[in-house]
Amino acid sequence: MPDHPAASPLPPVAAEAVIIGAGPVGLFQIFELGLLGIHAHIIDSLAQVGGQCAELYPDKPIYDIPALPICGAQELIDRLLEQAKPFHATFHLGQEVTAVQALPDGKFRVATSAGTELHAGAVVIAAGVGSFQPRRLAVPAIEELEGKSVHYRVRSAADFHGKDLVICGGGDSALDWTVALCDKARSLTLVHRRAEFRAAPATVARMRELVAAGRMQFIEGNVIAHHRDNERLVAVEVLATDGGARRVPAEQVLAFFGLHPKLGPIADWGLELERKALKVDTEKFQTSVPGIFAIGDINTYPGKKKLILSGFHEAALAAFAIQHHLFPAKRQFLQYTTTSPIMQKRLGVATADEH
Ligand SMILES: Cc1cc2nc3c(=O)[nH]c(=O)nc-3n(C[C@H](O)[C@H](O)[C@H](O)COP(=O)(O)OP(=O)(O)OC[C@H]3O[C@@H](n4cnc5c(N)ncnc54)[C@H](O)[C@@H]3O)c2cc1C
Repeated sequence: MPDHPAASPLPPVAAEAVIIGAGPVGLFQIFELGLLGIHAHIIDSLAQVGGQCAELYPDKPIYDIPALPICGAQELIDRLLEQAKPFHATFHLGQEVTAVQALPDGKFRVATSAGTELHAGAVVIAAGVGSFQPRRLAVPAIEELEGKSVHYRVRSAADFHGKDLVICGGGDSALDWTVALCDKARSLTLVHRRAEFRAAPATVARMRELVAAGRMQFIEGNVIAHHRDNERLVAVEVLATDGGARRVPAEQVLAFFGLHPKLGPIADWGLELERKALKVDTEKFQTSVPGIFAIGDINTYPGKKKLILSGFHEAALAAFAIQHHLFPAKRQFLQYTTTSPIMQKRLGVATADEH
């Protein structure tokens, strides 16, 4: 008999609306729902908010956000967060939504990879091009070592100190970590399939200096196999582009091949799809299941353009549709933030004598 009873699962969290995806469009959905007095929970598989803007091009300027002639992609995300702040959304980051199921009472069960379960009155899918997954090493059985000695992101740099380290990739992440960890690791080998790199030229030059000084090595090629001593990684086999195979000591491997979006579980939720996008109407941005809405890059309708601006418009209209779905008896009317005391109160900008 176990010495303590099995932990009972946490009760599901009751939510008015759940937003799946914290990219720019999901973040703006918090705001639009908040203006109508609806609280949101927002979930993202990534550890940080911002979707493509934060993950793929944080430093790039965007020129087509209305009234912001130029805005950095990360800056846009920071501004959206600031704008949504008064509505106190609940963030669930670093967890993928794995299931969305209709419940008999008309609500939806939303379950995540971290074991979070919510029961929501409405669901908004703002999942962009899908959840970002790291491109993995094409090495047989290497997945068994993931999180132990094979990593696709650095959680704690100290894990690599004093270790035989192999870093794979030719972009900024691979080169930045190569330079940062070179003096900390016991040995460091950078493996990249080409002699050219996509990283900042200054970092590439620094890496070449470190190689010339004998402090690390660079091999042009691919990791094709690994060697273990019981469960412990001890070396990798690198096939160099000159055709030679080399065994390189490796206790830890860091691979930075970029991220690719995966539609993933969304395809299994029984929603009508067209070319990997969710079909919606253009009045409510509702999917084929009433109560489940889809906005931003994930949806499709005649004339759809995958622009942040389009996603913002979709979020505004979806918010009204969600309000009607949750409170069908409530009369709806358009209010301006400029003049509406109730909206200003929700925004926390109302002056004391107004209420
Ligand atoms: C290099 C580049 C430049 C661009 N420049 C511009 C520009 O100048 N102007 C413009 O308008 N647009 C631009 N875009 C397009 C713009 O970035 C997208 O239209 C926008 O990011 C879409 O926002 P979104 O919120 O719909 O989706 P995304 O930004 O893709 O965010 C979706 C989020 O959902 C999460 N997610 C997906 N599935 C799940 C799941 N099952 N569980 C939990 N989380 C999930 C993802 O992790 C992601 O964080 C550019 C795109 C790129 C790649």
